[in-house]
Amino acid sequence: MPSSKKSESWREALKFINRCPICSGTYNGKEAKLFAKNDTATLVHMTCAECASYFVAMVLVVGQGVSSVGMVTDLSFDDARRLYREEPLSTDEMIEAHELIQKNLFIHSLILNR
Ligand SMILES: [Zn+2]
Repeated sequence: MPSSKKSESWREALKFINRCPICSGTYNGKEAKLFAKNDTATLVHMTCAECASYFVAMVLVVGQGVSSVGMVTDLSFDDARRLYREEPLSTDEMIEAHELIQKNLFIHSLILNR
């Protein structure tokens, strides 16, 4: 790949992500939207035109090679752009959330049992 096109090289990698994993619809690479980028990795969001599911792909440019990994997500493009900078949840936050859920379920069960 010519280095002059390196800034758009992530679009080349999208040729290998050409089908929606949910409905097998064909992705239109031109619809892919970039939402984060650094020297080696580019994060791209795609919306399936057939089933409206979302897909996020990380495209890595390493040396002369291009690699990609992707996953189905429930994040819209705006969500992905907004949330990717956030810190991951800590173990303490997960335990706190679990406890809150458990308490709410406990209160809920008290109401239903009356
Ligand atoms: Zn689809």
